[in-house]
Amino acid sequence: MDVRLILMGPPGVGKGTQGELLAERFGIPRLSTGDMIRAALKAGTALGERVRVYYEAGELVPDEVVLGLIAEAFDGPATAGGFLLDGFPRTVSQADGLGALLAERGLKLDAVLSLEAPERELVARISGRRVCEACGLVTHVRAVGDDAPCPECGSSLVQRSDDRAETVRNRLAVYREQTEPLLEYYARSETGLTAVDGLGTKEAVRDRLLETLQYAESPA
Ligand SMILES: [Zn+2]
Repeated sequence: MDVRLILMGPPGVGKGTQGELLAERFGIPRLSTGDMIRAALKAGTALGERVRVYYEAGELVPDEVVLGLIAEAFDGPATAGGFLLDGFPRTVSQADGLGALLAERGLKLDAVLSLEAPERELVARISGRRVCEACGLVTHVRAVGDDAPCPECGSSLVQRSDDRAETVRNRLAVYREQTEPLLEYYARSETGLTAVDGLGTKEAVRDRLLETLQYAESPA
């Protein structure tokens, strides 16, 4: 069965984890533009060389080039059974470009999923992360308690600067501002937008996503 999905969600909502679980469940590749850009650089294709120009100048790779990478992925054998797009599109203009690529190939999206959680929960999840300076363990204050030492090696646990509550709130504000028009765009589209509650264990969220997709009872 072909499954073509877009998965969206703010930082801290578990989009990466759920994207992997869904991709595995349906046997489809998880297409992340970051991965595709790195792969193109490595492969040294004509498109990869165009990517390199921007990459080496420290500039954002333009939409037109990213869409070229996605078109290549759509035309390759890996996406014959579908795909899950993770982290793309981010803007309405990218969504238009993606829509054109799909239409040219006679393909349609099965679902656009928006994983959601209240801001206070997202802030708590990210700002509670702790990293061990000595052994690199990543844990959470919910697991080890406040000001606890590393459970693996006894060294001190620290918070990364990106994970500070204030930084997280800023990242969430940027995400909301950027994504709201996109959510409206898909809500008005033929596919529609499906909001899914991202609270709870990763298994509970996965089951909720699968139920939404109405494949929960089919064998993996
Ligand atoms: Zn440690």
